[in-house]
Amino acid sequence: MHEAGIAAGVLELAERVAADRGPGICVRTVRVRVGEFTGVAVEALEFAFESLRTHTRCEDAVLEVERVPLLGLCPNCGWTGPPAEPYCLICPHCGQPAQILSGRELEVDYVDIEGSEEHHGASAG
Ligand SMILES: [Zn+2]
Repeated sequence: MHEAGIAAGVLELAERVAADRGPGICVRTVRVRVGEFTGVAVEALEFAFESLRTHTRCEDAVLEVERVPLLGLCPNCGWTGPPAEPYCLICPHCGQPAQILSGRELEVDYVDIEGSEEHHGASAG
């Protein structure tokens, strides 16, 4: 299963982040960005995550999935927007093949671990 492999990769990364902080540190939240164009079924990903995380530092973690919509970009006329039909990236203005602007994302956005004191905008740089 595609989603199981992705979930395993996400878990592995989150584990590593928590392990870097020290023994016994657990993961609170894992946020992933999944582009529409990846074809990943979010429900299957969540299910795989939940079944694989037993006895890991992610056992009580919340998996947040941000779905990134598919957007096209026309190199010919500069149009950007969602495709008129799913997976059909043809510019609705000039009929030229459009490029994918977003929707191919498949990445871990952030891993929130226990005891971290990170605040948005409070970074010293
Ligand atoms: Zn165009």
